[in-house]
Amino acid sequence: MTTNTKYIFVTGGVTSSLGKGIIAASLAKLLQSQGYRVTIQKLDPYINVDPGTLNPYEHGECYVTEDGAETDLDLGHYERFLNVPTSQANNVTTGRIYQSVIQKEREGKFLGKTVQVVPHITDEIKRRVQILGKSGDYDIVITEIGGTVGDIESLPYIEAVRQLRWDLGEHNGIVIHLTLVPYLSAAGELKTKPTQHSVKTLMESGVQADILVCRTEHNLPKDLRKKLALFCNVTADSVIQSIDASTIYDVPNLMLKEGLDKIVLKKLALESAKPELKNWNKFLRRHKNPKTEINIGLIGKYVELQDSYKSILESFIHAGAENEVKVNVESVHSEYLNDENAGLMLAHLDGVLVAPGFGERGIEGKICAVKYVRENNIPFLGICLGMQMAVIEFARNVLNLKDANSTEMDPETEHPVIDLMEEQKTIKNKGGTMRLGAWDCALMPGSKVEKIYKNQHISERHRHRYEFNSDYRYQIEEGGMLATGLNPKTGLVEIVEISNHPWFIGVQYHPEYKSTVANPHPLFVGFVKAALKHKKSK
Ligand code: GLN
Repeated sequence: MTTNTKYIFVTGGVTSSLGKGIIAASLAKLLQSQGYRVTIQKLDPYINVDPGTLNPYEHGECYVTEDGAETDLDLGHYERFLNVPTSQANNVTTGRIYQSVIQKEREGKFLGKTVQVVPHITDEIKRRVQILGKSGDYDIVITEIGGTVGDIESLPYIEAVRQLRWDLGEHNGIVIHLTLVPYLSAAGELKTKPTQHSVKTLMESGVQADILVCRTEHNLPKDLRKKLALFCNVTADSVIQSIDASTIYDVPNLMLKEGLDKIVLKKLALESAKPELKNWNKFLRRHKNPKTEINIGLIGKYVELQDSYKSILESFIHAGAENEVKVNVESVHSEYLNDENAGLMLAHLDGVLVAPGFGERGIEGKICAVKYVRENNIPFLGICLGMQMAVIEFARNVLNLKDANSTEMDPETEHPVIDLMEEQKTIKNKGGTMRLGAWDCALMPGSKVEKIYKNQHISERHRHRYEFNSDYRYQIEEGGMLATGLNPKTGLVEIVEISNHPWFIGVQYHPEYKSTVANPHPLFVGFVKAALKHKKSK
């Protein structure tokens, strides 16, 4: 088989959480900065068809693409680094692979053959890997394989990589293996043995790593690199160190210094050029040299885990750099918030963001937070469930509709100001059935959001089942909360803002999925600006 697209496979060894996604995204950035069209794909070995049904406690945030795929949070990193949208094809799970193979079997497509892991599952993996390459949109496809080499569930993926390397031919497919070189303080030494074992495990499956990227807390001396090269069967310049960084956005430059891009391009028989990282470095300079700082409260129920609100936190980093301010995000657990302690917990904040979410737990605390910031003129951004809570709070406390609620929380409420969307009413299955992906939105002329976006037509990504109940629109607008963003086709209310508040905006969609280093999201930029202004006015 001949191919124009080159493939890079990233596998992981020794332990999980080494940051394969960041390494893949950083390498992609370096290749993109030399003129190559690059995309990154993640293969996840679990059996869920997608992470949409996974609790954020289990797997962190569920990231949503333009075309409505519910995906692994690493895809967020890919987009934030590359500023190129990903799609359904960029995240594939074992569940999805088996689902398509079993579907084909039921259709009789295997013509009476016994369906097996090799070749049928591995063929389907290989087909999925090559969908992006065959689209003609990319020169290089980086495929990150989730999990750790040696895991039972990773085996079919490693086998597919082994086969693909033969199918693709020399210089068309390479393997980067990410490992850990631990430092034993008692011995005062960096240890190479875990890496040696990990490379050996990979070789037992017939895959030789071409490049080793070694996570480490200390610089790897030359002789240690030589030793790793010798024992792991790679050239000395293929041993790359990935030292702990203070921000993930430093990693592309660290990889550049190590020459990861050069060795990759050499092994793929591609030309290298001088990377164009001017804007990236400008962002980094601003991010690292803020002129001042602000404190933003993030009101949610998954606050113990950084990964649950990953895209929101990254959006604040982009918007902070844009405003040259450090944004300190303070997590506030919504379950512990009430009218009595709201002042104590929130008064010192320069802005409050009420987070997306599902289910009843913690929502009364979110409503208290909205009430406090509305009454105290603190800048407010409500995202998805956060917007819905803002509408409920307004209905209860301004319009005096005391039991106003969302039918998600109280199906019997007398005032369902947030209600299940019509098309959701007949849906029984949970997976992949929400309103997902990009939808157009028309902004009201003269509104705050129109000024923020500097546009009347926007498109944003969604992930929800419930919506603003238009039966209450007149009453709510009369009270002073305006519907300033509408779906142009259905009239669905996507944005609310309060006209006599300095900065109070609730959005049904998720702006955080679209914020990138190259394009910080205007709503986050505007929110940070408003928070800064609020701080100065105190
Ligand atoms: N639970 C709400 C809904 O389904 C909000 C979803 C969200 O915040 N992503 O409409």
